[in-house]
Amino acid sequence: MSKVVKFGGSSLADANQFKKVAEIIRADEERCYIVPSAPGKRFKDDTKVTDLLYQCHERVSAGEDFAKAFKPVRERYDEIIKELGLKLSLEDEYVKIGAAFRDGANSDYAASRGEYLNGIVLANYLGYEFVDAAKGIFFDSKGEFDGDITNACLGAILEKKPRAVIPGFYGAMPDGSIKTFSRGGSDFTGSVVAKAAGAKLYENWTDVSGFLVADPRIVDKPAGIEVITYSELRELSYMGAGVLHEDAIFPVRSANIPINIKNTNAPSDPGTLIVPSADDMSAKYLITGIAGKKEFSAISIEKDRMNSENGFMRRLLQVLENHGIFPEHMPTGIDTVSVVVNSHDLDGQREKLTQRIRDVVRPDHFEIIDGLALIAVVGRGMKSKKGTATRVFAALSHADINIRMIDQGSSELNIIVGIDEKDFENAIRVIYDMFILSEE
Ligand code: ASP
Repeated sequence: MSKVVKFGGSSLADANQFKKVAEIIRADEERCYIVPSAPGKRFKDDTKVTDLLYQCHERVSAGEDFAKAFKPVRERYDEIIKELGLKLSLEDEYVKIGAAFRDGANSDYAASRGEYLNGIVLANYLGYEFVDAAKGIFFDSKGEFDGDITNACLGAILEKKPRAVIPGFYGAMPDGSIKTFSRGGSDFTGSVVAKAAGAKLYENWTDVSGFLVADPRIVDKPAGIEVITYSELRELSYMGAGVLHEDAIFPVRSANIPINIKNTNAPSDPGTLIVPSADDMSAKYLITGIAGKKEFSAISIEKDRMNSENGFMRRLLQVLENHGIFPEHMPTGIDTVSVVVNSHDLDGQREKLTQRIRDVVRPDHFEIIDGLALIAVVGRGMKSKKGTATRVFAALSHADINIRMIDQGSSELNIIVGIDEKDFENAIRVIYDMFILSEE
């Protein structure tokens, strides 16, 4: 059985990174299908090829000469080809891209050329076949990714090719034009390819050794997460834990294929394994991860006998829906409810919303409280063990942090607390200390 291996932009930023990538691929002959991003940053202030291409598209649209605007892009590829000593010229491809630009190709086409050209270079370097993603990854006429057609077509293509490079980030619309996924979308392509190939594993190679229990900008050298379930990852990603594109888990999750996040610059690190279920794997710590976000607001409503007023919640939620506001959490009391929402969703419509809520639900008291931060403490381990909530609350109370909201998901996979934004960093640190440092 095969493995699908996706390499991010920093893993393929220059010839030296290409060499590391080739070594990784050759070290395991099951690594049959390779999904590259476009070359990323080589150093801190460098520009990713994808961004160079967006800039190039803007400049050509504004009337600048293609050859001049495209120069920074071609220099990146020509340098990689030269330093790898390849007998490959992308000249014909550059000509085709220039012609498409002059014909008014859109910015999705422009951006997709980063992965397309990188795929050609990588395939040539590895001696693998190149499969243009536009031949096997499809969108429907509304521009939504079409999973069924993609799976059938791409599956049929890959069946005939034991080894191939398939560029990330884009596919084709029904009329043959190119469309990209959202930024970072090569992760999604990797997942789609893994499903279509019936792979046993989807390896996602990047520049960090997997997920960390907490944000390293807040906690000093946090422990790594060795194993995490798809559900836990969803909870943590929603709260801002990065590394993988948000949609990337869905294709592989539906096919029960695990993902292994690995580090191209430290290939022997185990990284993080993302699995459908981890019931039989013992977790190192009681919790798997801590993540959080600032800039939430609580719409707080009090009304006597609210609980016996039929349709109260429905009317309230309808008002929010009509204003395009999504309730993140909704802790309730007998005569109170607060709806926690993203503060930015209220921008420009606070007064109208307030008036509408007053008219429709006639509250005794109504208030919007800003400056709320939410922290999610996530872990499959808390389901079978008592005392997780106690420890979260004890940690916060010892640090003199006031808890303004508590929510435990019905899956018992997470505990979410709402606190003042000013306490955010400290709260994450004390929860980390309570669960990770004290267990080490
Ligand atoms: N190159 C694209 C980007 O920078 C897609 C990707 O890297 O996944 O967003």
